[in-house]
Amino acid sequence: MAMDGEISGIIFDIKRFAIHDGPGIRTSVFLKGCPLRCAWCHNPEGLSPEPEMVLQPHKCIAGCRFCVDACPHGAASVADGGPAIDAARCVRCGACAAACPTGAIQRIGRAVTAAQVMAEIEPDRIFYVESGGGATFTGGEPLAQPDFLCALLALCRERGIDTVVDTAGCAPVEVLDRVAELAGEFLFDLKVIDAAAHRRFTGGSNRQILNNLERLVHRGARVMVRVPLLPGVNDDPASLEAMGRYLEELGGITGVALLPFHRGGGQKYIKLGRRDTFAGAVAPAPERVAAARATLERHGLTVQIGG
Ligand code: SF4
Ligand code: SF4
Repeated sequence: MAMDGEISGIIFDIKRFAIHDGPGIRTSVFLKGCPLRCAWCHNPEGLSPEPEMVLQPHKCIAGCRFCVDACPHGAASVADGGPAIDAARCVRCGACAAACPTGAIQRIGRAVTAAQVMAEIEPDRIFYVESGGGATFTGGEPLAQPDFLCALLALCRERGIDTVVDTAGCAPVEVLDRVAELAGEFLFDLKVIDAAAHRRFTGGSNRQILNNLERLVHRGARVMVRVPLLPGVNDDPASLEAMGRYLEELGGITGVALLPFHRGGGQKYIKLGRRDTFAGAVAPAPERVAAARATLERHGLTVQIGG
């Protein structure tokens, strides 16, 4: 059986000095792949479980052709003043992206071992000690890579590093239980209580998600529920009332982080060449955020804005 440090996974980013992904100063590791397809997703580059090649022809200086020379599979070419990749030949090794001097070709996502991730986390330990921080595993959906996530959590535990798992909870119960044995705290994203609306806006059922949230709370896990405030999805009084009622009846959570929608992911959709189905949405006005907060607080919940 592989040692924890040898277990590998796919990540698409590591952000140091994060201050919104749990307590204190944190290192956030973004695991690639998610089973949901939320219309408002801010990290569309985290949806696919595989590395992806992204082309930005406007950055190409065309003459150098370093990408073509670097490709060991004859998949890269330059046409019409910009790079092109033959998807049938490309193995997404990233050699062309590494060779490109302008960033006209980028690879999103890389395979790493848990030990390699720990080597990036370890230098920040001094900041965790000072601030009460640690490592946060997010995505994408980190529970979609359970062996890799559990290896990372176990290695952090061995080293005394606090851990937070930021999840949408869409995973088999066996995975949830394994992760709950090792994680210090959960940030649990809860979007919509109504089953039909959840399916319409995320592409998936919320039955397993709600079951998993209840299971975590009943086993005594530390859980902060994150509720994105989404125009036209869950910001109407009835939806907020349903959310407040559900969380009040659930009990046992440390609080609610209300996250007002913002247009953070728009440029990423353009870069990826994907349609942003939430492109017309605008951030909720402060009074709307305050009203949402008040609705949740009427259910006895401790609510913070952001975080
Ligand atoms: S990712 Fe690798 S295989 Fe694909 S085009 Fe670039 S160098 Fe070639
Ligand atoms: S290496 Fe980059 S800049 Fe040069 S031709 Fe290829 S994509 Fe264009």
